[in-house]
Amino acid sequence: MKTTAAVLVETKKPVELAELELPALKPGQAIVEIAYSGVCHTQLLECRGYRGEDKFLPHLLGHEGSGIVRETGPGIQKVKAGDRVVLSWIKGSGADIPGAVYRWGDRSVNAGAITTFGRFSVISENRLTSLPKDLPLREAALLGCAVPTGFGTVFNTAKPMPGQSMVIFGMGGIGLCALSASAVAGCVPIIAVDIRPEKLELAKQMGATHVLNAAQCDPVAEVARLVPGGTDFAVESSGRPAAMRQALLAVRQQGGTAVIVGNVRHGENLEIDPKQLNLGKRLLGTWGGDNTPDRDYPRYARLLSSGKVDLSPMLSKVYPLEQINAAIDDLEAGRAIRPLIEMGAQGA
Ligand SMILES: [Zn+2]
Repeated sequence: MKTTAAVLVETKKPVELAELELPALKPGQAIVEIAYSGVCHTQLLECRGYRGEDKFLPHLLGHEGSGIVRETGPGIQKVKAGDRVVLSWIKGSGADIPGAVYRWGDRSVNAGAITTFGRFSVISENRLTSLPKDLPLREAALLGCAVPTGFGTVFNTAKPMPGQSMVIFGMGGIGLCALSASAVAGCVPIIAVDIRPEKLELAKQMGATHVLNAAQCDPVAEVARLVPGGTDFAVESSGRPAAMRQALLAVRQQGGTAVIVGNVRHGENLEIDPKQLNLGKRLLGTWGGDNTPDRDYPRYARLLSSGKVDLSPMLSKVYPLEQINAAIDDLEAGRAIRPLIEMGAQGA
């Protein structure tokens, strides 16, 4: 079986569209016809060579998407042909089958347990979760990374009580999802920080009570003015060490919690004043929102399909697969929050 997919042949170069031959299914793998794939910061770091040396070139990309199962290998119990599914990099239940190797003429192309930048992909069972019928595949694609990371960081890692205060640094896909989750959790106020006015505008639409442009003010001083003593929580999703420091400075003494979600470039370090920790502040990390996909994804899907959370403002840019390099460029330049690639799956 053949597919068209984006191949990263060399870092710092555009990805190439190639006609590939899918490998034979192993036990625990399924072929999924991809409907939509999100493009996230991780793929941008990979393409630009910001994750350090890439030993897997040439390889496929993408770790969040939605689609329809077309074929299952032996032993798959979680899904069957025809099922609508979310594809996620976060491991759930089921077989854990590492990479698939595709053929590109006489060349081999590496792939992880999940890849989504193509029309058909071979996916490990534990990266698949069935979707409810009433959730459009377009929104559902974000259940693969942005939604579980953003929602999970708030619901599973930070765990705010209604009425507690929150500041979020970086209004990309994950920051905006964390913002929506903070609104659902009843946080007051919810302060959004970014350096782009159009992203702060989106933040207002999606539940921010206050917005701060860090290019025009000192966000730590402004947070202290809005919430004397500092906020109960901060989430950092910009991937910049300076914002990570600000997140820790912005939370209150004795119990204030800063959660670091953003991925820095390879080789960058975070320097903090340890006195901030002596003041009783907590600095937490998170494994993509600390989710259990089989338990948490149906919950998040209900929040989306019921309209309690509306992600449509951040899904304004949809690209055909042929324009994937434009989507990656637009993500880097801040012209798109969460570019979606529409693969044209039948029945999607
Ligand atoms: Zn991601």
